[in-house]
Amino acid sequence: MIVVMKPGASQQQIDHVIERIEQLGLRSHIIVGTERTVVAALGEKRDGAKQALETGDGVEKVVPILAPYKMASTEVKKERTCVKALGLSVGNRRIGVIAGPCSVEGRSQLLEIAQMLKEAGATGLRGGAFKPRTSPYSFQGMKEKGLELLAEARQQTGLAVVTEVMAPEHVPLVAKYADVLQVGARNMQNYPLLERVGEAGVPVLLKRGPSATMDEFLLAAEYILKMGNSQVMLCERGIRTFEDHTRFTLPLATVPYLHQTTHLPVVVDPSHGTGKASLVIAMARASVAAGADGLIVEVHQDPEKAISDGYQSLTPAAFREMMAECRKVAAAVGMEM
Ligand code: PEP
Ligand code: MN
Repeated sequence: MIVVMKPGASQQQIDHVIERIEQLGLRSHIIVGTERTVVAALGEKRDGAKQALETGDGVEKVVPILAPYKMASTEVKKERTCVKALGLSVGNRRIGVIAGPCSVEGRSQLLEIAQMLKEAGATGLRGGAFKPRTSPYSFQGMKEKGLELLAEARQQTGLAVVTEVMAPEHVPLVAKYADVLQVGARNMQNYPLLERVGEAGVPVLLKRGPSATMDEFLLAAEYILKMGNSQVMLCERGIRTFEDHTRFTLPLATVPYLHQTTHLPVVVDPSHGTGKASLVIAMARASVAAGADGLIVEVHQDPEKAISDGYQSLTPAAFREMMAECRKVAAAVGMEM
């Protein structure tokens, strides 16, 4: 439920509402708007709770939240969320571009590509140190050494580090180095992991599971939000369908749909979404045209020799071309990039 306070309700009246919500065994979450304050009452539905809260001083009305996800919903918060980490800003009509290799492979590889990406206009640096690989025999990532290299690349370029955390027990370690914690597609419904990244207080990039519905995706985000972390970006990275001309099918209607249902910013990953470097630029342009708040793309100085996902990685020259083309589209739809 949402308790909508009257304009100009006093702090004492708001505090009283919060106290009543907690006495009813619900959690309260305050959203201070420009005109009025609303207090969300979260938890299992209770008989009589609506009537009990409606009688409070300073309360205008109590409305049920219809969406199954609460804090992620535009019913609870109308103003759009903007996620910020160093120079990376995602949302609020500014498109954040996160680019980098699939995996951190070594010092010169990472520092060299980070410099090129910075010069080309990226604001975030991606690179996996802990890699979720389909086969247990594939390269699993450089782990903590990789995180150290990402921190060194940040120091040299100022780019915000975006890197995946795969296990709840790794959250403190990865959060020590990362500016944004990435939760991968395979882990979208790893609820203990979502709760731990929610507690970490670091911005999160949550990737959509390849078979997750929009409600499942938003409920996964809700696990992070309910821990008090409101800096969450949703990332469409393609879903599994019968189609096999691309690695995944990239549904771009996700972008406007999520803009209608949630205030959280939406990032698109055209690299995993297509699995083909030759398709990435066009889908990046289309993502911007659809209103994406951010892009995450794989770039490697020598894609042929990349340890993982080289076939979908752009060269630095192709990345520059993507930036130039996407900037034109961004300008056309009233966004900055
Ligand atoms: C990645 O970003 O390299 C990655 C593994 O992505 P996803 O979790 O979307 O498969
Ligand atoms: Mn990858």
